[in-house]
Amino acid sequence: MNWYTEQWSNDCKFSIAYDKKIYSEQSSFQQINFYQGKEFGTFFTLDGLMMVNEKDEFIYHDMIVHPAFATNPNIKKVLIIGGGDGGTAREVLRYPNVEEVVMAEIDERVFRLCQQYLPVTARGVEEDSRMKLRFEDGLEYVRNAPDQSFDLILVDSTDPVSVGEGLFTKPFYKECYRVLNADGILINQHESPYFAEYAANMKKAHTKIKDIFPITHVYQYHMPTYPSGHWLFGFASKRLDPLKNLNVKAWEQFGLKTKYYNTNLHIGAFGLPNYVKEALNR
Ligand code: SAM
Repeated sequence: MNWYTEQWSNDCKFSIAYDKKIYSEQSSFQQINFYQGKEFGTFFTLDGLMMVNEKDEFIYHDMIVHPAFATNPNIKKVLIIGGGDGGTAREVLRYPNVEEVVMAEIDERVFRLCQQYLPVTARGVEEDSRMKLRFEDGLEYVRNAPDQSFDLILVDSTDPVSVGEGLFTKPFYKECYRVLNADGILINQHESPYFAEYAANMKKAHTKIKDIFPITHVYQYHMPTYPSGHWLFGFASKRLDPLKNLNVKAWEQFGLKTKYYNTNLHIGAFGLPNYVKEALNR
């Protein structure tokens, strides 16, 4: 039996059995590997870290997209930073009033290979006329974007190392603030509270966002194949609060069938365990 193994902390590893390695490539930015296994189906890794698999991707993609739309059902212009597998775009494109989705993904190879090997997330994304693909650094894209040009920014990035590092910095959050309109929302990959290395990244991201945005929250989701399984997104905005402005009726009128997200879960997701609250506020 072949095992894909990931180091989750100094003293903890996680393994998945796989039948075959489908594809492997060192792109200009990162090592991209695709595997085929039974428990999680096809999965791909970047620099030896799990990104997306067929079995649990719905959890991540539901949770990065739907809470923002349930808070502001009038979102029309969306910027996705990273997200090369297409799963985040797939969920955003389900909203009929979305007019434009820009995806700034630094590595075109991730997008092309997911189209080939991971249709569950990639299928149909490029063909949708509302989609604008930009294969460039998200940091650079935001720097050059006009003031108040987006309703929603979704940072669907890798961890704050290598190409993803700039997406966890204060100058980047500042640019996001400038580029968002008055009702704008920023959702970002916010790491995990459990293992020390990830918890330190969580705390750093939160401290920086709090300095820029007047409204900041953190919400949780459960992701079986990410370190510890307990992961977070950040919610930051200029005006809208994800709990006070939650519009259950408007969201339900979209009639979207979702496998993970619902509006009760939305409320619960913002209720954090005490140790996470303490770590964030320390
Ligand atoms: N769901 C995943 C997770 O959290 O593990 C993230 C998936 S998505 C594949 C992450 C993408 O972010 C990668 O394709 C990577 O190339 C992209 N990325 C990393 N840094 C970036 C940057 N500075 N600008 C644009 N895209 C970036």
